[in-house]
Amino acid sequence: MFTAFLIKYAEIGVKGKNRYLFEEALVKQIKNALKRCEGRFEVTRTPGRIYVEALSEFDYDETVDNLKTVFGISGICPVVHVEDEGFEKLGQDIVKYMDNVYPEKNFTFKVQARRSRKNYPLNSMELNVELGGVILDAFPELKVDVHNPDVLLNVEIREKIYIYSETIPGPGGMPIGSNGKAMLLLSGGIDSPVAGYMIAKRGVKIDAVYFHAPPYTSDRAKQKVIDLAKQVSRYTGPIYLHVINFTDIQLYIYEKCPHDELTIIMRRYMMKIAEHIAKETECLGLITGESIGQVASQTVQSLAVTNEVCTLPVFRPLIGFDKMEIVDVSEKIGTYETSILPYEDCCTIFVAKHPVTKPNLNIIKRHEQNLNEKIEELMQTALDTDEVIVVNYEG
Ligand code: ATP
Ligand code: MG
Repeated sequence: MFTAFLIKYAEIGVKGKNRYLFEEALVKQIKNALKRCEGRFEVTRTPGRIYVEALSEFDYDETVDNLKTVFGISGICPVVHVEDEGFEKLGQDIVKYMDNVYPEKNFTFKVQARRSRKNYPLNSMELNVELGGVILDAFPELKVDVHNPDVLLNVEIREKIYIYSETIPGPGGMPIGSNGKAMLLLSGGIDSPVAGYMIAKRGVKIDAVYFHAPPYTSDRAKQKVIDLAKQVSRYTGPIYLHVINFTDIQLYIYEKCPHDELTIIMRRYMMKIAEHIAKETECLGLITGESIGQVASQTVQSLAVTNEVCTLPVFRPLIGFDKMEIVDVSEKIGTYETSILPYEDCCTIFVAKHPVTKPNLNIIKRHEQNLNEKIEELMQTALDTDEVIVVNYEG
């Protein structure tokens, strides 16, 4: 029945040149999402609205599901197209539409007609009244409510006539590519995929880095991170995933530094390396899944010590979230099931029984001096052996 979708987006704060960029980016992301769907589509833009029109048979559910992954879309309205064959035929089409879409006739409605073609014989007001009458004749159980209708039936007179009344909620946010790029530190846990999703939702393109520590972390752990990146890329588009071999750095820190400071020092080196790759790949910030107080390395003191190595801004969208709130999002975006698979991530192997929870920056820096002999060389080797995997969700 439906042959097109009207795409709604929130324009607040998006004006002038920014609005143009926003719409351009949104159209591009819609086209990308539609590539994953069966059928051919045309995406057209007129000021303030975007239409997706099917040019062939298509799978309605699949198409809606994919449009729901496009940040920037606030609502998806399925549209019925009819040819303009006079008012009487339009009345019949409208009655058929109401009957199909609302099998239960126990609601109030209002017709909202719009003419973008002024040569139509009735004006908008007349259309509202006349079509309202036709509907009431067909379904006397219905009532009109012009102030607060249950169903707002939109009828747009263009070349063809567009009829729609339902709005399926979109993900909101801003289209990818409208807000620069950032580097996500992606582990196999629950938090970092959610953090990446949340920053991407603000229009930020995402690349990712994973610190792998073979043989302490298995190939399955690496595959798990690739799978998570793939799930996140459903929303973000292709992700360049950098896999950094972190084993020698980790072992060196283990050998030279107090074990209760191992995690915090390790995290500082992860951030340093991630920032290095970020700067080489035009990323303007880093993203982590940290949340205050979740573990010893995420106390306010620990976060401050970790942060100290970075010059780029570090985005921590989960900073004030409880675990349950993070789990809710991960279930919603489909990463939870993968995240809870039991493979070791590189931090769990070396964790001390009693890690410092209030690290002192000066003491940490002093202990890092123990690494002077080899750390630069080890970091360089890690960067030189960066394995880049292009990850993309293909449906
Ligand atoms: P997550 O659920 O995201 O793994 P976590 O609760 O396990 O988080 P930590 O292990 O302390 O927390 O890690 C904090 C953040 O550091 C992660 O959210 C992630 O952004 C980053 N991180 C941790 N380990 C790695 C890793 N092996 N590779 C890349 N990033 C990592
Ligand atoms: Mg983790």
